[in-house]
Amino acid sequence: MTTGCDHAVEYVYQFLDGELTWWRRTRIRWHLRRCARCENAFEFETKLKSVIRERGRTEPPAELFDTLRALIERERRSSPGQGR
Ligand SMILES: [Zn+2]
Repeated sequence: MTTGCDHAVEYVYQFLDGELTWWRRTRIRWHLRRCARCENAFEFETKLKSVIRERGRTEPPAELFDTLRALIERERRSSPGQGR
C-alpha cells in the first residue's frame, strides 16, 4: 500500500489540525517530498489556515473553499492513471 495523492490531499485537514497519528503524518510528509502537486496543495492549505487563524475565524470564507476545491479537482484530474 502506498500513500497516493488522493489520500494525501484527503488528510490535509486532519494533518493540519493535528488529528492524525504520527505514522500517517510521517507517510504524508514523505509523499509530499516526492510529489510537487500535493506539496502545493498542502502549502495552500497551510497558508489558508494561518490566514484564518490571524483573522480569528473558525470557518474559511466560501470563496477560499471554492478555490481550494478547484485546485484539488485539477490536481486529481492531472494525476496520471487515477480517477474513474
Ligand atoms: Zn501527491
